[in-house]
Amino acid sequence: MILPIYLYGHSVLRKKSEDITKEYSGFRQLISDMFETMYKAEGVGLAAPQIGKNINIIVIDASPMADEENDEDELKNFKRVFVNPKITYNSDEKKCSEEGCLSIPNIHEKVDRYVDLTIEYFNENFEKLTEHLVGAKAKIIQHEYDHLNGELFIDKISPIRRKLLNKKLSAIAKGKIATRYPIVKN
Ligand code: ZN
Repeated sequence: MILPIYLYGHSVLRKKSEDITKEYSGFRQLISDMFETMYKAEGVGLAAPQIGKNINIIVIDASPMADEENDEDELKNFKRVFVNPKITYNSDEKKCSEEGCLSIPNIHEKVDRYVDLTIEYFNENFEKLTEHLVGAKAKIIQHEYDHLNGELFIDKISPIRRKLLNKKLSAIAKGKIATRYPIVKN
């Protein structure tokens, strides 16, 4: 089932999410719905707060970003469910590149992200895994991980850029926006 995506301005995007247990009711269905919702919206990552749930779940499928000729980051195979993730290490080095967010439609800004990191998480079978991620994979997970902490990528841009976006952001917060995918207007 495709779920509506909550937009910038909704309080659910600003709350810290909580860990879940194996017994979380409707877990399998929720994961399947999150993937379906993400594909419909043509995103490569989706965090549970974006569908209105303050729980620590992220789904990612970066295969649409893969360059068949030169897929150095192996994005083609980067499809994951992250339950209760914890970033346990990040590099000192950062790289700046453009990002967007399904909860903040039509806005793209350059953001600094750590070049590599280590993440511990449970997968869809509640097996505990540790993974070291580099480049585009590390970038995607940092964006989604921030959602679980109530943070958005526009929090990381300069005050001047932010000021320039104010009008657009308040339009989104008021629901004055058209999207190709279902949304929850504030
Ligand atoms: Zn986002």
